[in-house]
Amino acid sequence: MIDADDLIALVRNYNPRTNEALLREAYAYARQMHEGQKRHSGEPYFTHPVAVAAILTEQQLDDSTIVTALLHDTIEDTKSTYTEIEERFGHEIAELVDGVTKLTNLQLSSSETRQAENFRKLFMAMSKDLRVILVKLADRLHNMRTIRSLPPEKQAVKARETMEIYAPLAGRMGMQWMREELEDLAFRVLNPEARNSIIRRFITLQRESGDVIHKITADIRAELDREGIEAEVFGRAKKPYSVWRKMQEKDQGFSRLSDIYGFRIITETEADCYRVLGAIHRRWRAVPGRFKDYISQPKSNGYRSIHTTVSGRDGKRVEVQIRTRQMHEVAEAGVAAHWAYRDGVRTKNPFAVDPARWIAQLTERFDTEDHDEFLEHVKLEMYQDQVFCFTPKGEVVQLPKGGTPLDFAYAIHTRIGDSCVGAKVDGVRVPLWTRLRNGQSVEIITAEGQRPQATWLDIVVTGRAKAAIRRSLREEDRERFIKLGRELARVAFEHIGRRATTKALDTAARTLGLPDGEELLARLGSAELTSREVIEKLYPELVIAKGEEVEPARAVVGLAPGQGFDRAPCCQPVPGERIVGITWRGRGVVVHAIDCPSLVEFEDQPERWVDLAWHAGRHKPVHTVRLMLTIRNDAGVLGRICTLIGEQKANISDLHFIDRKPDFYRLLIEVDLRDVEHLHAVMTALEAESDVAAIERHREPGRKS
Ligand code: MN
Repeated sequence: MIDADDLIALVRNYNPRTNEALLREAYAYARQMHEGQKRHSGEPYFTHPVAVAAILTEQQLDDSTIVTALLHDTIEDTKSTYTEIEERFGHEIAELVDGVTKLTNLQLSSSETRQAENFRKLFMAMSKDLRVILVKLADRLHNMRTIRSLPPEKQAVKARETMEIYAPLAGRMGMQWMREELEDLAFRVLNPEARNSIIRRFITLQRESGDVIHKITADIRAELDREGIEAEVFGRAKKPYSVWRKMQEKDQGFSRLSDIYGFRIITETEADCYRVLGAIHRRWRAVPGRFKDYISQPKSNGYRSIHTTVSGRDGKRVEVQIRTRQMHEVAEAGVAAHWAYRDGVRTKNPFAVDPARWIAQLTERFDTEDHDEFLEHVKLEMYQDQVFCFTPKGEVVQLPKGGTPLDFAYAIHTRIGDSCVGAKVDGVRVPLWTRLRNGQSVEIITAEGQRPQATWLDIVVTGRAKAAIRRSLREEDRERFIKLGRELARVAFEHIGRRATTKALDTAARTLGLPDGEELLARLGSAELTSREVIEKLYPELVIAKGEEVEPARAVVGLAPGQGFDRAPCCQPVPGERIVGITWRGRGVVVHAIDCPSLVEFEDQPERWVDLAWHAGRHKPVHTVRLMLTIRNDAGVLGRICTLIGEQKANISDLHFIDRKPDFYRLLIEVDLRDVEHLHAVMTALEAESDVAAIERHREPGRKS
């Protein structure tokens, strides 16, 4: 096992000013905490955190990250606590260890691809400090390197997680070497036959064409020497998993060297990169469509390099990457390059990406070639505004920040949302307006008969929940509208002496092009449709076409065939007023206003009462009404009164003075009107005249014609 001195030496290699005392204390503390614990292999458990720390020294990471690696399993697996870590090692390290613990505690129970993507997002979102992910990745790398000591079924679970979550995560962090190693370690567990067949093919190829890497490396070196360029040349075989994936993608066997071997040329300056490129292209033929210049257009994770593929004399293709040393460091370390130290100081690699500005820089450097990557990172930026919670079954639900248990419920299913009555977060009952936090597990309590409340609209933040609640509320509104519409229809139908039966309503709906009578009622209730429109459709003969007027003889509906009628002189009802008829032998029916005091005398003769209504159409101005006016005694007043009435298109059929005083006199005018609206128009016009002191409708209960 690496002892404390070994580890400090590893750090001192790149960071001579390392805080040795801090590292020593972390080493001793973690060893003490893990005392007596064993790994599956039987080794002391403490060998694991030390190995994780050693992996991170290869990336030349800062002291805080190395200490975090040593302590990363203490809160989770020992009696150590956050408070104790904070007291001994400070706030920054306590936060980092806490972050790693939280990621460890996530239940990565689902293996669906969609879920895997959510988990990757969750990881990003939960790690305020990306060093937490660096430690977690190193932790997983060591566990994968030692996976052989686990029982086979556990190996498969870990390997799948690694393939679906950790390897893509390493790639996204810009750490290509780690991505490749994680993938290959997982591949060895998940599909050993495929991996073995690829390795066998490597061996066969090598036997056929000799040491290809050595030969090509020598060729390139010779060419660069000839041009007088100083550069290092490296060749390597690609990992079996990369080869296998390419075969899967292209659906072809592997025969091309460019798919198996890769070459890198590391230069001192950027200018040298292009000189190398020129030399390579002069010597070998470039394969069209394979040239990419990530130096002039770097990837958003800071990656810079020139890629090209050339074919040699024998037609074999070779892939070449050309970059400077600093570019190479960023290409290998990814975001980790930001925390890297050399010679005791933070390396000021101009190409390293500040993780905090990683996302922001992207938008500036956006170009079409990196479109997918751009979208990836824009999505990543959005995770800052996301929370990820779990169902009791361990599935991830992604919500915007501020999301509540109600949003969560609707995210699962509209039915769950609609019937939600409560929620438990991490096992504790909480109000529905509680804002959810990353990593919480949420259980929704539902009840039959529960319906969405209007107040819920203020609680939820997701569009999905809002839409579902509105839809449900609208349905409830609809029920109210139908009720109201039913009442309106009843009154309107009664008005014409009919009944608003289901059959009548369905028929009217059909003629109006509506699905059914219920929809018609809903529209009536919400005033999208008037009862007049409905009646017109259903009984066109009852409604006089526009412009035509109701014949005075047919002004009243509800009479027996051939029966005539007179308006009662006592109350003088006009169309628009509620009426009732009293039959008189030999005289037909006398029509009274429903509130006429004269009706009292017929109370004991119910057989004489007839239910009547005015015709719904436009009436002729033939209904005489008496008006009593009190007017100022002034020159020309009478003329003005007559003009006003004439302007309202009403005729004066009679006029007499009741009494005359020096200042005022009273006047009884009989006016012929269409209906109650016409009456109101005339009275309003007169009232507005300054010479008119009072005006009222004059009814004479005792008057008989
Ligand atoms: Mn661990």
